[in-house]
Amino acid sequence: MVLNRQVLVLNQAYEPILVCSAKRAIVLVFLGKAEVVEKTQFQVRSVTRYFIVPSVVRIFLYVHVPAKKIVLTKKNILKRDRYTCQYCGDGRRRMTVDHVIPRAYGGIDTWDNLVCACTKCNNIKGNRPLDKAGMKLLRKPRQPNHLTFIHHFVGIHDRCWKPYLFIGDRSVQWWETSDTFRLSPHSVQRISSH
Ligand SMILES: [Zn+2]
Repeated sequence: MVLNRQVLVLNQAYEPILVCSAKRAIVLVFLGKAEVVEKTQFQVRSVTRYFIVPSVVRIFLYVHVPAKKIVLTKKNILKRDRYTCQYCGDGRRRMTVDHVIPRAYGGIDTWDNLVCACTKCNNIKGNRPLDKAGMKLLRKPRQPNHLTFIHHFVGIHDRCWKPYLFIGDRSVQWWETSDTFRLSPHSVQRISSH
C-alpha cells in the first residue's frame, strides 16, 4: 500500500536519520515540519486535496526518535556483516557467528566481539584469540549506527535514496562512524510529530 511505503528522513543538514512510513512523512510535511526532497510518482487524496507521496523528506524541526537499540542476535550479526566472513571475505560458504575473543579468554556477547565467520575460518581459528590463531579481521566490528541500520536492516527502497546514503566511495564510512544505533522498525513507527 502506498501509505506504507518507506520514506527516508533527513535532518536539516541533509543527513539520513531514519526511515518512516509514507503516511507519517506526509503528516510531517502537512504540519510544516518537513519538506519533500524527492518524490515518488504516487499521490494520495484526502477529502479536500492531493498529496504527493515522498520518497525522501527533510525535517525542519526536532523530531523525537526514541532511543532503542537493535537486539543483539546471531541473525543481526550476520546481517550487519552482510553474510560475509570477516576473516577471509568469503560470502558463499555457510556462515556462523564467531567470538573474536573466545569465551574461554573472557570474551562476551557484544557487537564488538561477535563477527560473521565461515565454517572453515571458524574451524581454523578454533578456541583461540586472533594473535594465537595468526588471523586478522577485515574490519573492526561495531554496533550498527543509523546508516548501517538503513542499509542492512531496512534496505534501499528507492534509487533516489542513494545520494543521501553515501553509496559508493564513501561507503567505508559506515563502519567508521561511532554514532549510537538509535533505530528499530518499532521505533520508526513511533516517531512523534508533536
Ligand atoms: Zn572465512
